[in-house]
Amino acid sequence: MMKTAYIHSDLYASYNLGPRHPLQQSRLIDICETLRNQGAFDTNLVLMEPSPCSESDVLSVHDEEYIQIIKRASQGETGIPLSRYGLGPGDTPAFAGMWENGLLYCGGSKLCASLVADGKFKRAISFAGGLHHAHYDHASGFCILSDIAIAIKTLKGSGYKRVLYVDIDVHHGDGVEALFRSDPDVMTLSFHESGAWLFPGTGNVQDRGSKSAEESVWNVPFAPNTGGDVWCSTVSDVTNHLMDRFSPDAIVLQLGADALEEDPLGHLVMTRWEWLQTVDTLLRLFGDKPVIILGGGGYCRAAVVDVWSRVALLAAGHPWQNGLEFGRSVSSTDALDFHRSTMLYLQEKRGLQF
Ligand SMILES: [Zn+2]
Repeated sequence: MMKTAYIHSDLYASYNLGPRHPLQQSRLIDICETLRNQGAFDTNLVLMEPSPCSESDVLSVHDEEYIQIIKRASQGETGIPLSRYGLGPGDTPAFAGMWENGLLYCGGSKLCASLVADGKFKRAISFAGGLHHAHYDHASGFCILSDIAIAIKTLKGSGYKRVLYVDIDVHHGDGVEALFRSDPDVMTLSFHESGAWLFPGTGNVQDRGSKSAEESVWNVPFAPNTGGDVWCSTVSDVTNHLMDRFSPDAIVLQLGADALEEDPLGHLVMTRWEWLQTVDTLLRLFGDKPVIILGGGGYCRAAVVDVWSRVALLAAGHPWQNGLEFGRSVSSTDALDFHRSTMLYLQEKRGLQF
């Protein structure tokens, strides 16, 4: 059994981007409730409360001026040039209490890192984290503070030299990539719908890390209407290959659940069965290395509640397939063509062998 910590606070839901915003963190309350009703919390899946991280944790990954803006907006101050920092009406509105909430969800991801580093847990989950579009000095794509970067830094500060970041959200993990692209000890690997069709418009297969850290950046884009017939094996095969190549000491897994067919924002068409089987395969690949599991996107509430509660069961070694409908999805011809050229590039230019 893999002893797994599940970090949750109902206060996570105070990440309040507005009543009609696609990202509703109240979904996290439903997931915890689902797990509680199933009697899932026990000695192998341990429910724990997060505590806020410190301002210095945030300063270790973000620009000080940006932090000051967040704090002022959090207190309801008006007349701040929010849009200069990616905040304001639109994707990522400022809201009262955003600084305190940010410290809490970053604290949840940091706690995951501390718990696996202490050796008390092999895996730790905080679905409030995984906000992968947050940048050094600005907010983007519903994301304000980079809990992911704080978790990675905490792992590195605890003696894990090499950290692999794997992101299966339908959107490119641009914020995390940008924060670590010159660090040879962090590899960021993002599987996403190509930026030619979807926000944030980045994440090309050709992208590499900075000069001294070329291997730090890996992108595997897919075209709209890519199904599980190619997505599932690509996610596991590429991850497997890079695990061998990079030999990480710890893994951070971003599990945005918006590559599912039900999702209203993305155009990939994974069934819940395919998506969960792939997560299962990834966790098997990671073996007994420490793994932090974070959330991310996911805009069909019923689907997200279903798959993330099953991920918690899966991570803890509990039965997780009960009542899960078998389903396969098939890629369109255009999606297959796009995929072939992506794989050809990875083989010919970056030496991946399949
Ligand atoms: Zn997303």
